Amino acid sequence: MKRFLALVFAIVTLGSCAAIGSSTGSSTGSSTGSSTGSSTSSSTNSSLGKPEETFTIETDKIFDKLVQIRRKLHQYPELAGNEKQTQETIKQYLLELGLEVKTDIYGYALVGILKGAKAGKNVAWRADMDALPQDFPDNVDFKSKTPGVRHGCGHDVHLAIALGIAEVLAKQKQSLAGTVYFIFQPAEETFVGAKGMVNNKLFSLINPSEIYGLHITPASVGQIFVKANEMYSYQKGVKIEFNNTMPKEAVKPLVTKFRTTLTRTTNNSKPWEVQRILDPNEGLFNPNSIFKDYFIVDDVTFLSRSDGDKLVVYMDVYETDKAKLSNILPAMKKVIESEGLADKLVSITFFKENPTIDNDPILTNNAMTILNTSFGNGTVSGVYGQVPFSNDDFSYFQQKVPGVYFFLGGSNFGKGIIANIHAPNFMVDEESIRTGVKSFATLLYKRLGEK
Ligand SMILES: [Zn+2]
Ligand SMILES: [Zn+2]
Repeated sequence: MKRFLALVFAIVTLGSCAAIGSSTGSSTGSSTGSSTGSSTSSSTNSSLGKPEETFTIETDKIFDKLVQIRRKLHQYPELAGNEKQTQETIKQYLLELGLEVKTDIYGYALVGILKGAKAGKNVAWRADMDALPQDFPDNVDFKSKTPGVRHGCGHDVHLAIALGIAEVLAKQKQSLAGTVYFIFQPAEETFVGAKGMVNNKLFSLINPSEIYGLHITPASVGQIFVKANEMYSYQKGVKIEFNNTMPKEAVKPLVTKFRTTLTRTTNNSKPWEVQRILDPNEGLFNPNSIFKDYFIVDDVTFLSRSDGDKLVVYMDVYETDKAKLSNILPAMKKVIESEGLADKLVSITFFKENPTIDNDPILTNNAMTILNTSFGNGTVSGVYGQVPFSNDDFSYFQQKVPGVYFFLGGSNFGKGIIANIHAPNFMVDEESIRTGVKSFATLLYKRLGEK
């Protein structure tokens, strides 16, 4: 995932982050809700009684081991496409749990297969594997031993959570009705890993009917957030080619014109100021969020004057409304023409059209019900709007299999731990591993028992 809340750390340290930081969840307590709803408890998986109690206990038992493996992964981070040692570590862990392991899918991808003793449906859980090219000081005792590479996006934590879910579910194999696939995906940061796995026929190798995954966010540890449909806006990379009569100096005023003419916001708000995501009045947690409807024109990312002196401009734009995507290029072309640059324009195209996270509404609603009835109301909360400037290639899996992608809180503001991914001071409260394992093991287990 890219620069989610890239500026938030500055805001958070000023203490103005009440909306997201005020209600730190009791992730360490035995927060098993007393109101376990019979509507979500499984008939097929009935031998476990209250699965959330079992998985809370079992997660606690292996928590220290999961922290150790997370720290090991953190010490030996590998960049997108190079996850060789990471793959080996994951493979050994899954084999020891008795899972079937498949490799040779795409790059260093691997899939662990956990078959329950009873017949049932198939669900998948995905974790991403790669680290970032970063030189920031690593403010933990278990520092990265690879210069210039760091788990600055929390994928080491995602991996530990996935292994923990696999372990606690593997222990309940006898009562498990169906199959769980653990998809370990390389190269998320470069947005090629999921696509590569799908194109290499991942879904002829395994056949889940639903898929789940998560990303660490700067919310407080213990908190889980989700929404139906898009979690991020649609990022489109625009490539504009001008002929050799286009002066370089004319680009900046043109981009300004794009902004003044095409930007769309709610009530003149500024959704590009990402610290507003946490604002209680206009952020993601307010039903009147300014992040529900916008079109943002980002800066020029690359500008080149190549052979033949053509001027090529690359820039990103962000749109929340899928129905408006087809308007983007015609509208930009119109601005170019209105600026008297029509005779200089050669072409305007999308060079990047990544799919965005799109949560299945029925599965999202179902997952919220399961988690909130299992662990108490408020365990998972809804968000409103779509985060700009970020995305996750989990979206490629969702194009094939309906699924749900969650935000998992990783900050502990009281301890000065701010899980602001990609930021210099990024750190994760490892209690998020506990929350992730017990919550999502329970979710997967109960989903296997439901229609
Ligand atoms: Zn990232
Ligand atoms: Zn990420």
